[in-house]
Amino acid sequence: MVEDPQSVFLEPLWYFADPSKRLYWLHLVGSAVFAGCYFWLKRSDRTEWTALRQVCELRYWWNTSTRIDYALLFFNAILKAGLFIPLLGGQLAVAIATARFIHFNIAETPYLAAWPVVVSVVFTLTAFVFDDLTRFLTHFAMHRCDFLWRFHRLHHSATTLTPFTVFRTHPVESLINYLRSILSLGMISGIFIWMFGPQLQVWDILGVNALGFALTLAGSNLRHSQIPLNFGWWECILVSPAQHQIHHSKNHGHGNLGSYLSVWDGLVGTRIHGGLARALEYGLENAAQTVTRGPQTGQQADSDGLGGLMVEKQLIGASRAIKAAL
Ligand SMILES: [Zn+2]
Ligand SMILES: [Zn+2]
Repeated sequence: MVEDPQSVFLEPLWYFADPSKRLYWLHLVGSAVFAGCYFWLKRSDRTEWTALRQVCELRYWWNTSTRIDYALLFFNAILKAGLFIPLLGGQLAVAIATARFIHFNIAETPYLAAWPVVVSVVFTLTAFVFDDLTRFLTHFAMHRCDFLWRFHRLHHSATTLTPFTVFRTHPVESLINYLRSILSLGMISGIFIWMFGPQLQVWDILGVNALGFALTLAGSNLRHSQIPLNFGWWECILVSPAQHQIHHSKNHGHGNLGSYLSVWDGLVGTRIHGGLARALEYGLENAAQTVTRGPQTGQQADSDGLGGLMVEKQLIGASRAIKAAL
């Protein structure tokens, strides 16, 4: 646990060595390999070379938009160390409370017999799908509810997408997602503890991210990038980088709200094929054309003094100050 203020501030630098983070070096290597394969397959298409050239330029990594991503990376890390970490262990507490609640109020623990490896695999798959569903529902709510959109719009205000844009979240959105994760994984763990008792090990509960790790290794970092890699038919199941880029674009109505699985978008009619991700413009202008009933209209956004816009304005000011100081 991190207490020393200096080490808290330097914490994001360790993200490159932390397998649970998108910036883990192996995930970055995986993304680079995917990007390399993409450009190799598209080598005859000259427009693709423009995207590759942009990625190699300094201004792609250092501009008003990316400086806000970097500032929020450090700001959220400090907040997490100070506020969120005390909530760690919450997942186990929710799991035990859920198992006890079902046992005492609904039905006694059946202690189902099964091979531990089967319990582990079924639990990991179920928890992954349930966690992804709750991510989707939360994201959907952020685009539907005016109050939540005020915070989420900060993520959508990015005009350049780099792997660091994933950290561009309003602290309130980070807290909501942190609590969502504790509740969803805690509850599903509790149900399995109730069903299988001690056959479900603590490491199963804490190791659910194994699937997320594999998918992140398979190029999740490219979602926030200029590389429009699509998965073809597989986009009916998995969200491709191109699909998330469409989610950030000004002109496609903010569809593709899924995180890892795109089946949820398919069910509510917000899935857009990644093949449409050509020469996209990112940011909030014209964002009224969203899947929502319109919280993104300019007038409403401008009157948003409490949420994301205020943070955005301060961050843009800070970004300019950093640039001026260098
Ligand atoms: Zn969104
Ligand atoms: Zn995004």
